[in-house]
Amino acid sequence: MSPTTDRHSRLLPSLAPQLDNPPGPGDEALEAHALLNDAIAARATDVHLDPVQAAYRIRLRIDGRVIDALRIDAAHGLRLANQLKVLSGLNPVPSLVTAEGSFNWPLEVGGDEEAFLRVTAVNCVAGEKLAIRLLGSPRSFDDPLDLGIGKQAAQGIRRWMDATGGMLLVAGPTGAGKTTTLYTLLNQLRLTDSHVVTLEDPVEYEIPGINQIQVDSHAGLDFDTGTRSILRLDPDYVLIGELRSPASAQACLNVASSGRSLMGTLHSRDAVGVISSLRHLELTDGEISANLGMVIGQRLVRKLCQQCRIQGEPETDDIEWLDAIGLSIPDSVWSAPGCTHCNDLGYRGRTGIFEVWQLTPEDHARILRHDDEAILRRGLVERGEVLMLSDGLAKAEAGITTLREVLRMGAILPV
Ligand SMILES: [Zn+2]
Repeated sequence: MSPTTDRHSRLLPSLAPQLDNPPGPGDEALEAHALLNDAIAARATDVHLDPVQAAYRIRLRIDGRVIDALRIDAAHGLRLANQLKVLSGLNPVPSLVTAEGSFNWPLEVGGDEEAFLRVTAVNCVAGEKLAIRLLGSPRSFDDPLDLGIGKQAAQGIRRWMDATGGMLLVAGPTGAGKTTTLYTLLNQLRLTDSHVVTLEDPVEYEIPGINQIQVDSHAGLDFDTGTRSILRLDPDYVLIGELRSPASAQACLNVASSGRSLMGTLHSRDAVGVISSLRHLELTDGEISANLGMVIGQRLVRKLCQQCRIQGEPETDDIEWLDAIGLSIPDSVWSAPGCTHCNDLGYRGRTGIFEVWQLTPEDHARILRHDDEAILRRGLVERGEVLMLSDGLAKAEAGITTLREVLRMGAILPV
């Protein structure tokens, strides 16, 4: 059986012909090589080899979404899986438990820069499944405007950062681009004459010119001892990766209450959601109110392909959704049928949807009164702040993304 042609088989242009030529001695791993080169060229962050009824399905995660790329027969699938397992130092014999391996692979054929690939093999009912994560694609942290932050919001953040002291948190669900935002803001500080120190677990990206410290509990460097050492280094700004535990939240508080600026990320649905999250991390209303200065709420949406985007009438689903939340229906909306530039996906790249909450004395009083998220959110709406939904709708209207993407991000509606 030759590989069936899926709608997105164009994503794997060199793998498909390779499968028709049985490997000869010395070139046993050519199919795996072709798959990896294709995946990197398609900007995939993950590759999945999924066993399905006497076949294998190859799927790629691109811009946060899993795309079915190719269905191949079981013999080809097993051969490909074994090649990848050998490359990552795993035993080709299927193990009864999960097996993990890794290897490096060039980002460009013949190039020096490499991606780090982490391979996980799991035995499923239908056969062995392989998941490959590609880490280390080049990133740049140059300009907050490139992230999708509006000019006015970026200026507000800049002003906050220039006035040292207090806590700035970037909030959102997992995979919302919080760390990238934080590093981009940090990168700006590096250009000025301030002293920046980070305490991270783990250090995700290295930024030249910034002192980055990796938490190492075994060596006695935890959040508590780490922040005490950091404060003796006389920093202006301290970044503490993700606030996950009461210990890391307490460490943030120690920094912020010492008059330094503290930056961190926090898992929450939106900007005001951080109040509940901080309360769960055992900070008191008094501590939150006295130290929290700014929260940036964030989601990621896919960007419409600028080569093939078109305007047309809104679809029924979009009309129903807009109707349900009481918004007017536009005459025309953007969509993209797909072209060679976007590998027929209609989207290419991602951008952020933001809300920037600069806390006012009124907000601080509300937190002290133990008001809940709904009351705080209503306060923001009444002040005319741009919430994530409005930012998303504006980006859909401008043809940067689609209504469908904004709908999918599940933004919390104004109350
Ligand atoms: Zn296109």
